Amino acid sequence: MNRSARTDRALIGVLAMQGAFAEHVRALEAAGARTRLVRAQADLEGLDGIVLPGGESTTMTMLMERVGLLEPVREAIRGGLATLATCAGMIVLARDVTDGMPEQKGLGLLDIGVRRNGYGRQVESFESPLHIEGMNGKEFPGVFIRSPLVERTGDVKVLATYEGHPVAVRQDRIVALCFHPELTSDLRLHREFVRLAMARP
Ligand code: GLN
Repeated sequence: MNRSARTDRALIGVLAMQGAFAEHVRALEAAGARTRLVRAQADLEGLDGIVLPGGESTTMTMLMERVGLLEPVREAIRGGLATLATCAGMIVLARDVTDGMPEQKGLGLLDIGVRRNGYGRQVESFESPLHIEGMNGKEFPGVFIRSPLVERTGDVKVLATYEGHPVAVRQDRIVALCFHPELTSDLRLHREFVRLAMARP
């Protein structure tokens, strides 16, 4: 399907190798989008946006490589496909990854450096209200689960921080989060992403 054949509802692909993809599908549909699970290259056809969910980044990239998705997804995002990456998805997108598997391959498209599980084992999961730029003052419930710590940012816009570290960043049509909005009932970030996906570049 080409762009001119689209309806006015966004079609968002959700990478479904493993991890929290079903939760993103629920949130995106509640935010008014149509969704499609992405498991093969053909599933990328005609998408307005893609979500790289949380889960386990090492397993996710290994499976993407195995099914031949690593390169096509990289090309699609490099070509301007709107992308929402959460937690492991942020690691998959990041240019530099510390404490990854030695052979861990990623997309390397987002100009940040992350440390896997960087918030430490003793605080594997926590919740904190966040001030996110563009959310009109009302705090967003930040759910962190073995999240990556953003240790370096390059040419990205920081949308939110927690204890001095960026936890939400934007680079062109990519939004990446250390936390999990799909595990909350707050749809604001998904709605915002659906709008971004529909704003033709
Ligand atoms: N620690 C996981 C990883 O390294 C990410 C955790 C998550 O996505 N909730 O991939």
